[in-house]
Amino acid sequence: MTNRISDDLLTQCMHCGLCLSVCPTYALTGDEKSSPRGRIRLMKSVMESRIPVTDAFVNEMDFCLDCQACETACPAGVKYGELVESARIFVESSRKRTSLKVFILRKVVVRRRVLNFIAGIARVYQSSRVDRLVLRLLNIASKNLYNKARQLPKVSESFSINTLPEVIEPKDEWRGTVAVLTGCVMDVFFADINKDTVDVLVENGWRVVIPKDQVCCGSLNAHNGDGITPKGLARKNVDVFERTAAEYYVINSAGCGAFMKQYGDVLANDRGYSERARAFSAKVRDFSEFLVQTGYKKPGAHTCKPTAYHEACHLVHAQKVSSEPSEIVRDVADKDYRTLNEATWCCGSAGIYNVVRYDDAVKLLNRKMVNIKNSGAEIVVTGNPGCLAQIASGAKKEGLDIEVVHPATLLSRLYKANGSQ
Ligand code: SF4
Ligand code: SF4
Repeated sequence: MTNRISDDLLTQCMHCGLCLSVCPTYALTGDEKSSPRGRIRLMKSVMESRIPVTDAFVNEMDFCLDCQACETACPAGVKYGELVESARIFVESSRKRTSLKVFILRKVVVRRRVLNFIAGIARVYQSSRVDRLVLRLLNIASKNLYNKARQLPKVSESFSINTLPEVIEPKDEWRGTVAVLTGCVMDVFFADINKDTVDVLVENGWRVVIPKDQVCCGSLNAHNGDGITPKGLARKNVDVFERTAAEYYVINSAGCGAFMKQYGDVLANDRGYSERARAFSAKVRDFSEFLVQTGYKKPGAHTCKPTAYHEACHLVHAQKVSSEPSEIVRDVADKDYRTLNEATWCCGSAGIYNVVRYDDAVKLLNRKMVNIKNSGAEIVVTGNPGCLAQIASGAKKEGLDIEVVHPATLLSRLYKANGSQ
């Protein structure tokens, strides 16, 4: 993460255009400058001072979802994710933009006490009648604000970082120790998934450590042009997770896992941490990836409802983890498995994209919902909190009776149904 975009990265692109058909923003506009190839040309022109950092340039960098579908499609191995994140750091250092978004990301999200305090207030607000009144007023005053407010998921009843014990021992067999990240967004909105994650790991013979002084992984800041905060967070997590002496670090959020697998690169120039960060990243596993690679108990019960799998961008494209979660979903759905067309196409969540670029995100969500409806699925499984919230909000908006669940929730539920837990 520097304030320049690396020439080596920029010159990898051979302009073949094979990435264009998989790019969701190019599909929205049909405009070359909204494609991976077009954006790389723009970045190169700015780096060579042939064009200044214009509003149009900044808009294209912000419009990109950082979904990395183009990386999967690219035959030349262009590291597009690194390129766009470097471009955003370059934009922030050139423009020094101050905004509510920057304040929230740098001063709230990364401070767990502050985040949980604010989330606690939001929880009280959501459970009061005031929120219904506010929604009604917003519906009259501004459809846009009403829609944004409506998509906010319910804040968790309690946060798992506070309620889960620091160490949870397996009941019967003992296979080793894993450490789990509870996350910021995941814990605020989906604390139950953290609990389900621990239940499934323990059921499979793993001793689970929840390091209480863990911090936000830093991905939201890294994806939004901050080249400094994520390094501090990465250093802190390396210190904290090392002390657990765990063999693996199991991450149930695709965005967090993708970034923690990059800690080795993020801290590559930090003499005190480069080796340790590389060792850290080597231990990181996505939840489904970990279970399938190490072997897991088949629940012996099935969903008994049409079930489809939506592939989160930061799992399938950034981490290249696809077959493992698919295997779990196919197994638990059995004859009720439904193929989701364009399963690897971004749902529009993309970190905080659905908040800061709401209208573009809605267009992508609508496309996803058409595919979900056509699949006939009543359960949609996905491994990222952003996708869970986004697809659930799409289902709510359309009045569809669809449950959106994490693989950990599905497995935990089926183990219980089969009397294992
Ligand atoms: S597929 Fe790769 S090499 Fe081809 S235009 Fe896209 S980024 Fe460039
Ligand atoms: S990251 Fe996604 S939105 Fe951005 S250029 Fe690549 S495919 Fe398009």
